[in-house]
Amino acid sequence: MAQSSIEWTEMTWNPTTGCTKVSSGCKFCYAEIMSNRLQAMGVEKYKDNFEVRIHPESLKIPYTWKRSKVVFVNSMSDLFHKDIPLQFIQQVFEVMNDNPQHIFQVLTKRADRLFELHKKLKWTHNIWMGVSVENGKVKSRIDLLRETNARVKFLSLEPLLSPLNNLNLEKIDWIIVGGESGHNPRPMKSDWVLDIQEQCKIANVSFFFKQWGGKNKKANGRLLNGRTYDEMPEIELQQSI
Ligand code: SF4
Repeated sequence: MAQSSIEWTEMTWNPTTGCTKVSSGCKFCYAEIMSNRLQAMGVEKYKDNFEVRIHPESLKIPYTWKRSKVVFVNSMSDLFHKDIPLQFIQQVFEVMNDNPQHIFQVLTKRADRLFELHKKLKWTHNIWMGVSVENGKVKSRIDLLRETNARVKFLSLEPLLSPLNNLNLEKIDWIIVGGESGHNPRPMKSDWVLDIQEQCKIANVSFFFKQWGGKNKKANGRLLNGRTYDEMPEIELQQSI
């Protein structure tokens, strides 16, 4: 478990590590860059760098947290990667089911495998399920997410690489928008962001603007129309399971 600098969460928990690229949003994968660094630093968990690995020893970590947390699951991987066995995914879900005091945010680009497996998983109220959608080509991930039994469903539109007009936001609770950062980021236009914000307003979806990104993401900041937008889905933490 580690404190996270990601604006929409508190902590990260990585029961799996490693991944392979699936779509254009993966081009400058942060998890891959970090895995390289952590391997170079000799961190045991990353000895195989970005190869997909499961870490059963990490499953006990959430039981040790003293107060309620908001946790991004697998910031260094994709839980629905084909090389992660269903049995291990079920174990990860069991840990989340056993710890309703924490919110677990699971994000995937593998919406097809999520859809394939979703009926074999127990969706307690504290599991927020999201898909990444970076451009119009992968919009179908939203339809697959919609079919799952996750109580809270969200979209991460980051890095946003194209306009995303006329999204079907039925059953979607939360949208995060962000631009790409790094040495050679692909641009995000303000019109695209404003259009998504308007769609959220109309559909009554919580809107979180993460960052503009760019070469100097700190300087570019996270103000939109002169203010920040940090909305979160409105849910009761202690609902019955
Ligand atoms: S799916 Fe996520 S973790 Fe995997 S390569 Fe793409 S951006 Fe990286």
